[in-house]
Amino acid sequence: MARSSPTGEIMPFTVAIVGRPNVGKSTLFNRLAGRRLAIVHDTPGVTRDWRRATGSIGALTFEIMDTAGLDDVDDHVLEGRMRDQTLQAISRATVVLFVIDARAGVTPMDEHFAQIVRESGKPVVLVGNKCEGNRTHLGLTEAYSLGLGDPLALSAEHGEGLVELAEALAPYQSDVEEQGPSAVAQDETPAPDVSPEIHLTIVGRPNVGKSTLLNRLIGEERVLTGPEAGITRDSIDVEWEVEGQRIVLTDTAGQRRRARIGDGLEKLAVADAKRSVDFSEVVLLVLDATEGLDKQDLTIARRTVEEGRALLVALNKWDLPDDREAARRQVADRLERSLPQVRGLPVVTISALTGDGIRKLLPAVRDVHARWNFRVPTAALNRWLAEATEKHPPPAVSGRRIKLRYATQAKARPPTFVIFCSRPEDLPSSYERYLAHDLREHFDLVGVPVRLVMRKGENPYAKKRA
Ligand code: GDP
Repeated sequence: MARSSPTGEIMPFTVAIVGRPNVGKSTLFNRLAGRRLAIVHDTPGVTRDWRRATGSIGALTFEIMDTAGLDDVDDHVLEGRMRDQTLQAISRATVVLFVIDARAGVTPMDEHFAQIVRESGKPVVLVGNKCEGNRTHLGLTEAYSLGLGDPLALSAEHGEGLVELAEALAPYQSDVEEQGPSAVAQDETPAPDVSPEIHLTIVGRPNVGKSTLLNRLIGEERVLTGPEAGITRDSIDVEWEVEGQRIVLTDTAGQRRRARIGDGLEKLAVADAKRSVDFSEVVLLVLDATEGLDKQDLTIARRTVEEGRALLVALNKWDLPDDREAARRQVADRLERSLPQVRGLPVVTISALTGDGIRKLLPAVRDVHARWNFRVPTAALNRWLAEATEKHPPPAVSGRRIKLRYATQAKARPPTFVIFCSRPEDLPSSYERYLAHDLREHFDLVGVPVRLVMRKGENPYAKKRA
């Protein structure tokens, strides 16, 4: 088995930042997040409970999640909710970053959270935060008592201790690499990553039929669990199984309703969608077939794509339009024009009211998720690159032809590819768009955002062998 992938440095793994309130999780999150995603909305119920971002220290890149949204709550009732949130974050993590406040030492609440982490069996990196200028806080010594290994002294606020943190996290990167089919698989068939469950959210403007649809889905499709009170008090979780694949829907309708009061609907539907997008893998955008796709729907769709989530459109109230073909065309044309990066986006026509078409919905969710999760084997990818550059060679800039030497898939969710290139800075964006388009068509990745990263370099495999 090939031990290392040529793009090892960008192979992501997931880090959950866990700890009691006020130890500095949020500061650490912001410190690690290359791109700040903090979306704070003051409307009650619209603050989310966890955040995700791509984080990095030096060349090390990973996904981070935190549960900092709960730091502001001092309600005892919310303790269970915090526990749920923490468990969810941990269950999705490759490694847990457990944070304590080294100045405060170990508190009973730290012990409580530490126990949750220990019971999860996940690997842990223990961090004593707020160690600026003093790496020998007594709290660090106390931290050994948590049974989570040696604590690492850190100051999230001042950026101290990050090198040590990177060293502690680095081994998890190679774990992911070893599992990554792009590093090992040389077979022909693109292999989807197996996900234990798909996280789905339903979004859309008011009155398009989201609640009706949810009720219909609960009524018609075999429900594994739910509707139950979910991770926030205003949301419910429902779980289905479609051909062996679990689909979990978190519905935030309660929050929608509450937040609607006294605020512009447009602003809220978008804020709501932002929040939903953060939670989910597949976003189901519901449209009203009698109204078609408007600006606000596009904003939601665009945001979903920009955040790299899988998007599926349901054209609801299909029982109503006189001219169905015109209704379908309006939506398809508008999507095609405004969101060319997800050309071929699946649109499922349904009637939540009559139940028509409902059976197509969950399989469509599974399909779009599988595409979003695709791993293209390296050999197949490089055959494609050779064909694509032969069909339409990269341009010559300043008299020299730009060479595209090697491609590899860095990650799935969404599919992200790295192409090693002689002069990436000179490659016109129109050529990159051509490659992205051709790649999407070739591997049938329609409807999912595909990302291309151009890197300067030779074929790293060739270099290694030399
Ligand atoms: P939400 O605000 O998106 O949750 O929308 P609702 O589910 O409350 O639905 C808004 C209205 O549209 C209700 O009067 C529903 O009965 C109606 N509705 C929902 N789905 C359909 C459908 O497929 N066909 C028709 N004709 N009406 C629908």
